[in-house]
Amino acid sequence: MASTLRLILGDQLNHHHSWFKSKDPHTIYVMMEVKQETGYVNHHVQKIVAFFLAMREFSTWLEKEGHQVIYMKLDDVENTHSIPRNLSNLIKAKNITRFGYLLPDEYRLDKQIKDFSDSLEIESEGFDTEHFFTQREELANFFKHKKSLLMETFYRHMRKKHHILMDQNRPAGDKWNYDQLNRHKLKDTSILQSPKTFRYNIAGILNMLNKMEVHYFGEIDVNNFQWAINRNDGLLVLEYFCEELLPYFGTYQDAIHTEHAFLFHSRLSFLMNVKLLSPKEVIEKVMEQYFKKETTIAISQVEGFIRQILGWREFMRGVYWAKMPGYAHLNKLNHHRALPEWYWTGKTQMNCLKHAIGQSLKLAYAHHIQRLMITGNFALLANINPDEVDEWYLGIYIDAIEWVEITNTRGMSQFADGGIVGTKPYVSSANYINKMSNYCKKCSYDKNLKIGKNACPFNSLYWNFFDLHREKFITNQRVNMMYRTWDKKPHEERTAILKQAEQYLNNIENL
Ligand SMILES: Cc1cc2nc3c(=O)[nH]c(=O)nc-3n(C[C@H](O)[C@H](O)[C@H](O)COP(=O)(O)OP(=O)(O)OC[C@H]3O[C@@H](n4cnc5c(N)ncnc54)[C@H](O)[C@@H]3O)c2cc1C
Ligand code: SF4
Repeated sequence: MASTLRLILGDQLNHHHSWFKSKDPHTIYVMMEVKQETGYVNHHVQKIVAFFLAMREFSTWLEKEGHQVIYMKLDDVENTHSIPRNLSNLIKAKNITRFGYLLPDEYRLDKQIKDFSDSLEIESEGFDTEHFFTQREELANFFKHKKSLLMETFYRHMRKKHHILMDQNRPAGDKWNYDQLNRHKLKDTSILQSPKTFRYNIAGILNMLNKMEVHYFGEIDVNNFQWAINRNDGLLVLEYFCEELLPYFGTYQDAIHTEHAFLFHSRLSFLMNVKLLSPKEVIEKVMEQYFKKETTIAISQVEGFIRQILGWREFMRGVYWAKMPGYAHLNKLNHHRALPEWYWTGKTQMNCLKHAIGQSLKLAYAHHIQRLMITGNFALLANINPDEVDEWYLGIYIDAIEWVEITNTRGMSQFADGGIVGTKPYVSSANYINKMSNYCKKCSYDKNLKIGKNACPFNSLYWNFFDLHREKFITNQRVNMMYRTWDKKPHEERTAILKQAEQYLNNIENL
């Protein structure tokens, strides 16, 4: 009798996949914890723990459902720590005659598993993960005859195609985008709710990581791991978001506060990225909440959230598959400075960076604006090598998987793709940071100064960035007014600002 081996990777935990609809005594599912995956970049410990915990819970669920599962732990003696080698060994040992795998979302793994599959003498096949709204190549086809890839164009297409927030053929509320209403600073913290957390004991997994000498960084509380790592808890996080946080989500989407890491953010990225929750069910639940008679949630809150998932998330995936593998090496602004060591420790006097990095080391989480306008903003202003910036983002966040990390980092945040993802560089001086956060109040630098001993580094680096890349951005309509402001400044002032920036860059490790 033919027997089938089916591989499930750590980010393919889709309970509703059609594979699991029927039980077959001749099909074996395999899941594995391998050093190949813990070691391709230096990861935050919470990220490794979350993946392994989620995988273990998923394999237990599969077994309970009556499927045959081989689960290889990191310290199993027969584990070779290479996915293809483990698969080869199993195919031989179990007399496998057919191999199946779910298409990996990461280029590196996609190539590895496809090469392995092609090399087999037995029948083999790749299957869709049945998670995303779009197919890999859908975005490339959509933009085939267009000059540039515009997120907003794609997002409107997705709204129409999937009939989400639509009123016949018009956008509900008569507006596609409520971005203008999504930019409020949080002044009244009494409206905040605590995040929905859980309590897992992770001592066993942590001991195993240490025994197996896995490299990691970041903080973790052994008795109190708080992230949801299974479907049931994931559904609770989603429910909590819809009931308690959604009414304020859009308004405070861009706000930052030192005492509150999560604000009104959903904390759903890990759950969706490992496919415990699907983007479709998340959007359906949000729409259900929006339409409930007893709730009055403004459309700007709902649209702001749906844009992130139906728009940005699917857009980034499409850009990834349209532009890889070349995308991973793009460095269009030619930035080559090393990432300051304090990105790994948080030991800097700049309060915004100290806090955003410190919070990331503690929680393996920072929300979008902290990633874009604090850590990303500084890296771009300081001309840091995008390879190093990517490595940092890929390692530190619990939700970091290359298809969504690299497009956000190299693309949106570092403009290293020359404007494929974003139409302008996301940079700011202290003015914006002070507007959106309470960081500047307790900083040893002065947010109002561009020059002088305590001048905020963002201020001189900001002008230095535009001066350095004049040729690139002077023709960019979204930022060219900066050159008018810069050129109007007296020559002596410009010289002093550039000198200040140069001094800061030369002394970057001590800022
Ligand atoms: C430099 C940089 C690196 C990033 N790296 C990652 C990453 O590795 N993994 C990741 O999932 N997101 C990444 N993002 C996007 C975003 O910051 C996170 O998705 C978000 O902060 C996750 O927290 P949340 O679930 O509370 O999100 P919420 O603010 O509640 O948003 C809801 C959901 O929308 C989706 N979303 C929001 N913004 C984006 C975006 N720009 N691209 C794709 N999806 C989005 C996420 O799935 C998120 O869970 C990055 C952003 C930047 C600027
Ligand atoms: S003053 Fe400058 S360095 Fe300090 S918190 Fe504000 S923006 Fe950051």
